[in-house]
Amino acid sequence: TYIVTDNCIACKYTDCVEVCPVDCFYEGENMLVIHPDECIDCGVCEPECPADAIRPDTEPYMEKWVEFNRKYSESW
Ligand code: SF4
Repeated sequence: TYIVTDNCIACKYTDCVEVCPVDCFYEGENMLVIHPDECIDCGVCEPECPADAIRPDTEPYMEKWVEFNRKYSESW
């Protein structure tokens, strides 16, 4: 699963949303989030993000953002 991190805050680009094959981006309060159960881990969005905000959840110290992405994507 890929997750969106705080570099996304105030970013105005939506290139990631446009390339995602399963439409699993959702709007959080001030940034986008990825629904962890809908993401198919394709990785297409990561290089599209101009803010470098999209990271794989396998990186260290991502627990906070994993929860954040789940919380805000499931509220839809
Ligand atoms: Fe969508 Fe693929 Fe990015 Fe997951 S990794 S959010 S499926 S583009």
